[in-house]
Formats: sequence, structure tokens, C-alpha cells
Amino acid sequence: MTHPILIVGGGPAGLAAAQALAGVGQKSILVEKESRLGGAPILSGYAKLVPSGEWAKDAIGGMVKRAEESPLVARELGCTVKRFSGEPGDFRAELSNGKTIDASAAILATGFTHFDSVNKPEWGFGTFPDVVTTTQVEQMISSGRGVRCPSDGRKPERVAILLCVGSRDRQIGREWCSKICCTVSANIAMEIREELPGCHVYIYYMDIRTFGLYETKYYWASQEVHKVKYIKARVAEVTSDGERLVLKAEDTLVKRPITIPFDLVVHAIGMDPNVDNKSIASVFGIALEEHGFIDKKNSYGTFGETSREGVFVAGAATGPETIDDSIGQGKAAAIAAFGLAHARSGAGVAA
Ligand SMILES: Cc1cc2nc3c(=O)[nH]c(=O)nc-3n(C[C@H](O)[C@H](O)[C@H](O)COP(=O)(O)OP(=O)(O)OC[C@H]3O[C@@H](n4cnc5c(N)ncnc54)[C@H](O)[C@@H]3O)c2cc1C
Ligand code: SF4
Repeated sequence: MTHPILIVGGGPAGLAAAQALAGVGQKSILVEKESRLGGAPILSGYAKLVPSGEWAKDAIGGMVKRAEESPLVARELGCTVKRFSGEPGDFRAELSNGKTIDASAAILATGFTHFDSVNKPEWGFGTFPDVVTTTQVEQMISSGRGVRCPSDGRKPERVAILLCVGSRDRQIGREWCSKICCTVSANIAMEIREELPGCHVYIYYMDIRTFGLYETKYYWASQEVHKVKYIKARVAEVTSDGERLVLKAEDTLVKRPITIPFDLVVHAIGMDPNVDNKSIASVFGIALEEHGFIDKKNSYGTFGETSREGVFVAGAATGPETIDDSIGQGKAAAIAAFGLAHARSGAGVAA
């Protein structure tokens, strides 16, 4: 008999893996450390997703509902895997809630950790209440409260969004590009302009990476339709004159210092490796890549293999990923894990 497949992490990647396995009649056990499923889009209260424009609570909430309603998906919430032993087809996992489960394969869909902006103190986060992150603006929009200055609840008249906060920054040990924050920021800028048409929104950038088809829908639309202003700049510091925030930067196109007052400054935070990755690597006996994300054995063979046979990985656990790519990877890992589980059980997989 084939054991269930263990899925660790109940975000878009893990939910997609569970759904794919249920679709072929395979049982899975979803272990999630938080008390609810949905991953970053639900736990962090994202608003409308790019590129679909659907609310996160509907799009990812729908995935959660399907997992919760499936008789083939068992759920262990509020717990982690403490020990993992055995071999492909016959693994054993001990959970922090005291349960022990047998599993034929494991899929790590443990995602990422949002960059903590206090690690960039010169840009004002943690010092001035009106310096916030993209996640906080997503929460303001998704809660229905609208975009406001946290210090006194007023509607901002001038907003600056600073890109690459905690990404592409060698000084703080984060060389990678977080892939989605240019697009998310352009989307947020357009949403602010729609809600507050009198508000001026500026995006401070090094380069714009609204990759693929996002260029038309977000980069050009934000400028041409919504009149968002882009400034190619190197940001020096965010201070306050007592009434407003003051953003000092160098305009790198004209090579001149610029100082502009703002009501609200938004950090477009990047995607860090999951803070649990060292412990996950040690428990599952797998390798991390040089930045601290979970290493993929190869890119073109069996998708999602890690350095340990029978343990697969999907989504932002492998590095910055979009939701749709995380979902695709979750499904690919599910197929690989299913094939291995059935090969080892001797049951085979129908062609
Ligand atoms: C501000 C912001 C906005 C974004 N907006 C968009 C967008 O609009 N569109 C888009 O495509 N992408 C967006 N993204 C990227 C998106 O968040 C990721 O693509 C997506 O969350 C990745 O899904 P995942 O399942 O791989 O990881 P996650 O969403 O991080 O889910 C991982 C899950 O694993 C759980 N977990 C972690 N460690 C353990 C452990 N040790 N044991 C058990 N469970 C564990 C976590 O609690 C979590 O539930 C945005 C990112 C940011 C920072
Ligand atoms: S996607 Fe844009 S904002 Fe995010 S790290 Fe890359 S270049 Fe910077």
C-alpha cells in the first residue's frame, strides 16, 4: 500500500500540490506551521493579485476551501516536522504536536519570509510611523480601510514607493531580485491613484523589472493611464521636517540631488529565504543554495528534486517566485512525488 504524500507548507505551492494529488486519487497530509492555510497571500492579507486582478481572499481562499473540503487532504495545522527518517516510499515524520506519520514522499512548499525593513534603518522604517511596507498597504486596501497615514489617519496627498528594499542590495547581503515587487508596486500605485485621484504617487527605482507581458499592463498603464511618476534614483535617506517625511535621493539620470516631501513612504519589500530553512535543511537532510533558499537538484530533469531522493521542493522555498509559478511548481512536484511513491510501492502508475 502507498503511504500518503507529506506536504510541508500550506501556501499556493503546497495547496496546488495537494489539489493535484487529490485529482489523481492520492492522499496527502498537509503540515502547516500557522493556524490557517493560504500562505503569504492570506496570512499577510494581500489585496488584488497581479496579474489576475482577483482578490487574494477569493483566489487563494478558493484553493484553501478546495483543500479543506477534499477527503484526500488531511491537515495538521499549527505544527512543524521535527524528525524525518526512512527512505523513498517509506518515510516517517514526527510532528511537533506529537503525532507520527508515514509518508511515501515529501514536498517542501515552505515559502519565503518577507524582508524586515528595520534592516534598512536609513530609509525610515521603524522610526517614522508613516514609513510602511507594501504588505501594510496591501492590508490597508484588503481591509477596506483604504490607504491612510498611520500616524493620524489622514489621506496622503503625496506617496513615494521605494523599490528593491531588501533586494539587489549587496551591503545587506541580498543580491537577488525579488522578481514581483516592481509589478506589485506599479499595481499598488494605480490602486492608490484610483482611490485617491488627487494623490501624487512617485516610484523610486534602480531598474524596472515588470517582466514579460506585465510591461504593458503595469509599467506603461501606471504612467500613461494613472499618471504615476517614475524617478530613477539612488535613495539616500528618509527623515522628517516635523510635518512631513523628507526623502533625499540622487536622480541618477540627471545626476543631481533631489529632496521631496511626502506624506507616506512605502518600502517595496523583497523575499528573503524562509527563516526556518536551516532547521528544515537539517531535519530533512537536504542542501540549501548559496543565498539560503532550498537547492534544486536540477532545472531540466525531474522538476523539484532536492539533494535527497524522495524529498521535493516547490514555490518560493526555492527562491523568489510569483504565485502562478509557485502553483505550477507545486503541481510539477506533485507529479514527481506521485510517480516515485507508486514506483516504490510496486503499484506502478497507469500510463
Ligand atoms: C508584498 C508582496 C506582494 C505580492 N503580491 C503578489 C501578487 O500579487 N502576485 C504574485 O504572483 N505574487 C505576489 N507575491 C509573491 C507571493 O507572495 C509568492 O509567490 C507566494 O506567496 C509563494 O507561495 P508559496 O506557497 O511558495 O509560499 P508562501 O506563500 O510563503 O507559503 C508557505 C507556507 O509554508 C508555511 N511554512 C513555512 N515554514 C514552515 C515550516 N517549517 N513548517 C510548516 N509550514 C511552514 C508558511 O506558514 C506558509 O503558509 C507578493 C509578494 C510580496 C512580498
Ligand atoms: S522586482 Fe523590481 S523592485 Fe523587486 S527586486 Fe527586482 S528590480 Fe527590485
